[in-house]
Amino acid sequence: MSDVGRATNAMGKSISFKIEMRKIIYVLTHGEKWRVQCDHCNGSSITDTQTSAITIARKHVASLPEGTLSQILVQGRDSKFRTEWTYGEDPFPPRG
Ligand SMILES: [Zn+2]
Repeated sequence: MSDVGRATNAMGKSISFKIEMRKIIYVLTHGEKWRVQCDHCNGSSITDTQTSAITIARKHVASLPEGTLSQILVQGRDSKFRTEWTYGEDPFPPRG
């Protein structure tokens, strides 16, 4: 689900750009625990394990309107993010 936005640049020229309506649910480290932060409903919860945090993140994804592009981003212990899953665009690529 994307739309085209329009803006005027510094030269007064009209430009268009693609707006991505992507919702992101973050799974973040929280001390020894994990925190889920939802971009969509601003909900957040604390869990003991990463697994249950991802389970909650998936519930947020399931509550989004059908067809919404969404993504679960999981923060590793090294503070870098990895993508757990991207929804809404080819979620089930054909097996090779
Ligand atoms: Zn949510």
